[in-house]
Amino acid sequence: MIDNFFENNRITTIVAIIGILKEPEGENRVVALPEIAAQLVKMNFQVLVESGAGSKAFASDEDYKAQGAEIGDKAKVLSSSDIILRINSLTKDEITKLKTGSVAFAIFQPFFNPETVKLLLDQKVSGFSLETIPRTTRAQSMDVLSSQATVAGYKAVLVAAANLPKFFPMFMTAAGSITPAKVLILGAGVAGLQAISTARRLGGVVEAFDTRSAVKEEVNSLGAKFVEVEGAKDDKAAGGYAVEQTEEFKAKQRQVIHDHAVKSDVIITTAQIPGRKAPVLITKETVAAMKKGAVIVDLAASTGGNCELSKNEETIDVDGVKIIGSSFLPSTIPFDASKMFGKNVLTFLKLILKEGQINLNFEDDLVKGTCITHNGEIVNEKLKEVVK
Ligand code: NAD
Repeated sequence: MIDNFFENNRITTIVAIIGILKEPEGENRVVALPEIAAQLVKMNFQVLVESGAGSKAFASDEDYKAQGAEIGDKAKVLSSSDIILRINSLTKDEITKLKTGSVAFAIFQPFFNPETVKLLLDQKVSGFSLETIPRTTRAQSMDVLSSQATVAGYKAVLVAAANLPKFFPMFMTAAGSITPAKVLILGAGVAGLQAISTARRLGGVVEAFDTRSAVKEEVNSLGAKFVEVEGAKDDKAAGGYAVEQTEEFKAKQRQVIHDHAVKSDVIITTAQIPGRKAPVLITKETVAAMKKGAVIVDLAASTGGNCELSKNEETIDVDGVKIIGSSFLPSTIPFDASKMFGKNVLTFLKLILKEGQINLNFEDDLVKGTCITHNGEIVNEKLKEVVK
């Protein structure tokens, strides 16, 4: 793994090869743009990029080469990399071609994909699942879920605006007055707060709801009204995540949401509970009572949807209400989404790359919290219960 070579009259030690893999068909982002490859090269790593990896994010093979990276085909990147980087999980075929003892970074979603975990174990690959990074202040700059949720929240509003048969802002014109669009945001986490800002910038009148009352101030400071439902369970120990609510609360919440939804032109839903099906906040009865021409963008569609009728990656029309089930929006802004993703990954890599060596320090809560497999064993305690 250690190559020595002569460069600029000094011996440089290239320790590890860092491979940037092309994403699967349909994905436009890349895990690291040339600017990130440049930084890795400066840190004395050899960077090997799968040909065409950045093309849909407007980064050509030539752009990577200009930053000192090498270009190779998939087989070469898989078999020679000591560290392999990708956004989307690797396939069975890809994992079995990885070097034994290598380190792989991706959004593996190990709790939903136990087979992938087993393959990483068999191949003795140290798997790091980027979405499992603990939610601590130190981890903020490495959190790919947050950066990509920012993209999704922003784009969700643009998609809604493009599908709405109305304006977002208020207009007073010689041709008459136009009232502003009423926007309801369900879930005021990273995506929801970004959706509020974007909808406000477009001139919408915005309301938002979340079970975590802590977000009320943030919602108000962005110029939106916080819709309150009393009696929500809020668990400070849940690390900033929402927790499952009681049946009584859920019924009350559905009624309040119904009352606000029927007056809304746009609803953006972002409510998620980690590791569980998304909570149903908009029932089919609510959809039936909504205004004709209204638009729902459901960002939780891949985990079942916040709207009972949502279909993942499909747009459906239910009696004049458009329901857009979309969990793939970051891929539609590939340049900036990749830029943010790459910065997150580079910041995390700096934790495990010390003086040109791979240094997996399991005393570090971020390294331990993100690692799923190492040396043929499962690292994450909860995962041990799921993958037998
Ligand atoms: P998320 O994607 O897990 O969920 C989105 C939002 O949906 C959350 O605000 C959640 O409270 C809400 N929600 C869940 N169930 C709901 C229900 N039944 N009704 C209404 N709303 C519901 O969350 P997220 O956007 O990733 O972030 C949640 C919090 O964690 C935010 O405050 C965020 O700033 C914080 N966070 C911190 C870090 C860090 O410190 N490293 C990283 C990521 C997020």
